[in-house]
Amino acid sequence: MAEFTAPPDPATVRCPTCRAEQEWADTCRRCKCDLREAAASYLQSRRACLLHLHADRPRAARLAARRCRDLAASAESHRLLAVAALRCRDWAAATVLALGPTVEE
Ligand SMILES: [Zn+2]
Repeated sequence: MAEFTAPPDPATVRCPTCRAEQEWADTCRRCKCDLREAAASYLQSRRACLLHLHADRPRAARLAARRCRDLAASAESHRLLAVAALRCRDWAAATVLALGPTVEE
């Protein structure tokens, strides 16, 4: 059964490269990943996902949603993945994803 976790703290960020959780900064304290670039990539992928969903391209939307989830495994990115899975008619994955952000697709 899926476990529910609290939404991520908006004052902190998890590095998409090394997964270190920290307060917002331009670069990761551990691996020096450019966190601003990662955040920009997340927003770009999120926008692409929504555009693909709107244009009835569910597979492309799912790829973009996976990119979002890889960059930031948040409740929002899991919802995007759930919607994309639903549009791909992958009912099982959509159901599991809708249950909570800790469950893999
Ligand atoms: Zn890092």
